[in-house]
Amino acid sequence: MPSESSRLSKSRYLSGLQCHKQLWWRVHEPEAPELSPTPGQQNLFAQGREVGERARGHVPGGELIDLPFYQYDNKVTATREALRRGRPAIYEAWFLADDTYVGVDILERTSRGYTVIEVKASNSRKPEHLPDAAVQVHVLRGAGLQVERAEVMHLNPECRYPDLSNLFVREDVTALVEAALIGVPDELAAQQRMLEGPLPDVPIGEHCTRPYDCPFIERCWPKVPDHHVSKLYRIERKRALELEADGYATIYDLPSDLELSVIHARQVKAVQTGRMVVERTLTKALAEFASPLAFLDFETVSLAIPRWPGCRPWQQVPVQFSVHVEERGRGLVHHQWIAEGPEDPRPALAEALVEACVGARKVVAYHATFERECIKQLREAVPRFAKELERIEKRLVDLLPAIRSHVYHPDFGGGFSIKKTLPALVPGLSYADLKVQDGEVATVELQRLMIEGDRTPPAERAALRDALLAYCARDTWAMVKLLEKLRGLVADQLELF
Ligand code: SF4
Repeated sequence: MPSESSRLSKSRYLSGLQCHKQLWWRVHEPEAPELSPTPGQQNLFAQGREVGERARGHVPGGELIDLPFYQYDNKVTATREALRRGRPAIYEAWFLADDTYVGVDILERTSRGYTVIEVKASNSRKPEHLPDAAVQVHVLRGAGLQVERAEVMHLNPECRYPDLSNLFVREDVTALVEAALIGVPDELAAQQRMLEGPLPDVPIGEHCTRPYDCPFIERCWPKVPDHHVSKLYRIERKRALELEADGYATIYDLPSDLELSVIHARQVKAVQTGRMVVERTLTKALAEFASPLAFLDFETVSLAIPRWPGCRPWQQVPVQFSVHVEERGRGLVHHQWIAEGPEDPRPALAEALVEACVGARKVVAYHATFERECIKQLREAVPRFAKELERIEKRLVDLLPAIRSHVYHPDFGGGFSIKKTLPALVPGLSYADLKVQDGEVATVELQRLMIEGDRTPPAERAALRDALLAYCARDTWAMVKLLEKLRGLVADQLELF
């Protein structure tokens, strides 16, 4: 009989369902560095826990099996005892059957048996939730429970703070789970057999990223050479495989008569010649960047359980901005604002933003759809500045398409994010020297500063604040330098023609 630590569990079963090789590594190399969660994942787990706790309040009167995570057998025993007490629900109920442990978020007693409720911190039910519920029902029935019904209880995208009475949607998935149950016993047996043997040989494929990104991709996927065909801008994986099969492994190998989109054609030309391609149309594209300009960037937080008026679950709420503004007689002036406490940041942020952009004719953003959404949200949240915010929104101009549709540098590597274009077009300027280097970390750290700031030692809190300010400021400074570079390219062209 497998030991407690080598038995299957719900999460192991789900990994194995994605890939046996992944499960083998998870079980036999639990300390693998790839399994250390990223800050973003840790944040998701923490918010998921909060959602789980909140969900219990929507199925009241239950008993919580409150034991450490690793005490599987004790939790199974405690659950059995709780069942005897006949409470209307058990939270975090644990069961063992078929050498497989499962934890049930909420087990609700019904007139004829039980309902298994799987709580999800997502805004909708997803296909991968079904095998999750199915293995629970299988194990509970194996343990002798009369499971009548299965539900997925997920967050409700229609819910708006402060009314959290409809925070959850309970979806009956009994029929779908009954259908999914058919394959569970064989799959459990196959996984258990596999785990007793050597590392299985599983070819790479679509399953490596579906339903989740496998943490072992670096181990399994071969390193591709620079400018591999898969680096063509937004190319579908299938098309890249076709090109490879036709003998074109890299962009250098592509024949001149291959039919390509305009952006791909520019990328191929730049890579094959080893030189940046600048279209003459860039001049016209830059005409809309009329001074005086403001360069704007927002950072947001995204909370599973909303906490500010009008917000829905997982809404991206702007809580920080940086603006570099061209001001007559003063050159470029920097304005910034960052939320530091748990209260609604939007009124103060909106006021500071309106003030910062007041003299700007155009407001430059990189991928302006995001800034536009943030401003729309601010307009609704802070009606007293709605008009001024609308004016900022109308003046938005996007630097990303100005690059994407007119310029390609071989070092873009198939992408046009500011992290790719900045070091290629403005050598020496990047994000590498910063403590916070990407948006995912910024979101997590902003949340920490706002929600847990008063529990953070002052020195650490000040350092965190500085790191976040530096990151956001780099985004707007990057836009200043990128536009300067693009204008330089246009001037060079005018000299040539
Ligand atoms: S990268 Fe793909 S093949 Fe390798 S373990 Fe992960 S899912 Fe399996």
